[in-house]
Amino acid sequence: MRSENASIPVPELRVIPRDAHAVSRKDISSSALRVLYRLRDSGFAAYLVGGAVRDLIVGGHPKDFDLATDATPDQVRQLFRNCRLIGRRFRLAHVVFGREIIEVATFRANVDDGSGDREVHDGGRLLRDNVYGSIEDDAIRRDFTVNALYYAIEDFSVRDYVGGFEDAQNRLMRLIGDPETRYREDPVRMLRAVRLAAKLDFEIEAATAEPLPRLAGLLREAAPARLFEECLKLFLSGHAQESFLRLERHRLLEVLFPESAQAMAANRSGALRTMVLEGLRGTDERVANDEPVSPAFLFALLLWPAYCRALATLQAQGMHAVEAQRRSADRVTVHQLQTIALPRRFSLPMQEIWLLQTRFSLRQPKRVSRLLSHPRFRAAFDFLSLREAASPDHAEDIAFWREAQLQPGAATSALPGSDAGGGEDEELDPDGAPRRRRRRRRNRAG
Ligand code: ATP
Ligand code: MG
Repeated sequence: MRSENASIPVPELRVIPRDAHAVSRKDISSSALRVLYRLRDSGFAAYLVGGAVRDLIVGGHPKDFDLATDATPDQVRQLFRNCRLIGRRFRLAHVVFGREIIEVATFRANVDDGSGDREVHDGGRLLRDNVYGSIEDDAIRRDFTVNALYYAIEDFSVRDYVGGFEDAQNRLMRLIGDPETRYREDPVRMLRAVRLAAKLDFEIEAATAEPLPRLAGLLREAAPARLFEECLKLFLSGHAQESFLRLERHRLLEVLFPESAQAMAANRSGALRTMVLEGLRGTDERVANDEPVSPAFLFALLLWPAYCRALATLQAQGMHAVEAQRRSADRVTVHQLQTIALPRRFSLPMQEIWLLQTRFSLRQPKRVSRLLSHPRFRAAFDFLSLREAASPDHAEDIAFWREAQLQPGAATSALPGSDAGGGEDEELDPDGAPRRRRRRRRNRAG
């Protein structure tokens, strides 16, 4: 089906028999298998599809198991007591097994964005009608060839209509159909290309990669709430650093985080970018160790360059430090919300992490105990440590507060009594000139 410019590809079936692929029932959740068998035993076609087949083929561990069938949602519901139908326009069946949900979708015709959030176009007109279709229709409306593989429970073969099996062998993300058309239909596919390539260590095939920088601006039209969700997947799934580097390479970062991208470009020493990369590496490590990761900390990190730059600008205009910090935090947040809908429950602690940074250099006993008991102390301290890793400048503060945490009682009596060098903002000048580090005076933050 490699007709290069056709926007609607012609599906052509290739069957990969059970001994020629790596998908094995022992790697599929028992709940998913039960649903597959029940559908088949009732005379319906039943397949494992999408990310799960893709991940299994390349030796990964799928996090969920989605199924496709020719049974209608109502027919699916009649087969399972533990089933509920969701969605208005396109109904999906959720079969519930304790905490596990197996999503069962009826083969779907018509190209759609798969997100369910674009039912109506800007003008309010229906985007497309909801029509069930054949398995071929279902295959070509998916985004990437490797996401359009079907594992058939009837003979354990993999059915490939779009060349996805070969692309998986070659570790390639390739859009189905004409790339530009598919990105225009749903710009979030640009992020999905990068995210899945980062996650799977794939390359983005040349024709699929080519439009990215050109069409990156279309992301501004995507729903900000969806972009927030996509960001969490990009940066909190264990491949944040790789996602970031690839977003940079394909010129998507500057659309997602315009002010941070500008600040990093203007920061000649590269310290801001180094810090972000270092922070993302740490995030990946935490995910790998099954430790919790927080969107507030993540966004504090990703928007730190923007915050530093805004702060430098306001302070250069003569604004008092405390006021400048608050204003910068608000300004950066409000601007970022135009693209990514960061919920307040994350943006508020994100701002606190920033605003607490200058308080690490203040060591009067009362301030010390107040900061130690601040709900955001730990996050803010970790953030300070990260800044130190990127540009050593806060060693003394870090040593002090590490000690203070270990011995809350002793903290007040162990005051070094100096805040020299502490709490300095990243070197950054709005016009990109390296700035001399000034010794910051104590301020009354807090
Ligand atoms: P992940 O590992 O992140 O779950 P995934 O490929 O399973 O990756 P989902 O968002 O769970 O991603 O989507 C499931 C399937 O639905 C995809 O494999 C793909 O076939 C299809 N799909 C998802 N989003 C789109 C889209 N924007 N356009 C077309 N098809 C999509
Ligand atoms: Mg999935």
